[in-house]
Amino acid sequence: MSHEEIHRSHRIGWLRAAVLGANDGVVSTASLIIGVAAAGATRVDILLAGLAGLVAGAMSMAAGEYVSVSSQADTEKADLKLEKDSLENNPEFELNELTEIYRKRGLEPSLAKQVARQLTEHDALAAHARDEIGIVEQSMAKPIQAAFSSAATFTIGAVFPLLVVFMVPQTNIISVVAFLSLIFLASLGAISAKIGGAPIMTGIVRVTFWGVLAMGITAAVGRLFGVIAT
Ligand SMILES: [Zn+2]
Repeated sequence: MSHEEIHRSHRIGWLRAAVLGANDGVVSTASLIIGVAAAGATRVDILLAGLAGLVAGAMSMAAGEYVSVSSQADTEKADLKLEKDSLENNPEFELNELTEIYRKRGLEPSLAKQVARQLTEHDALAAHARDEIGIVEQSMAKPIQAAFSSAATFTIGAVFPLLVVFMVPQTNIISVVAFLSLIFLASLGAISAKIGGAPIMTGIVRVTFWGVLAMGITAAVGRLFGVIAT
């Protein structure tokens, strides 16, 4: 029985970004809520702090992602420009370069030359971008898209603990936010592991460990500060 293999590596890029965004949103907002609640703040103050944390976090994710992806895009653009100029000015050199690349990958010299020649005729820049620099159309850096999707996924994660604050009695905010956030984090870890084809338990443990640590530390700091300040 023949079958098509299912490859997952190409999904890892956007998936990793989406899970990271949601993960950051849950961890930072839940920790913020727990920290402020542990200091003895009222529900309104907790909500205000959580909301401010959501906006600040989403903006900082967007800005960070935009800057980092932009610089990657600049590098790719500069590389392609160099390649384009060289293809115009030194076509022979570039053809030999491409031939050499295919020969090193295992083709016989004459076949390598033939492949290089045909790909050059078809789309020289695409061939050099892909096989020499390692840039393919689908994987090219897109700063705006990256910024929006990080902000959006962060917000999705951050809204979750905020909703919990709305719904539970003041005295239970810390325990319920912590408990449900950890379950949410565990699900995120499981989903990303499942889609990425990685062991599910590892995904869950990895994500919840950092969640527990973040919430635990902010709770301790909030409690300490609450004691000192009052
Ligand atoms: Zn080249």
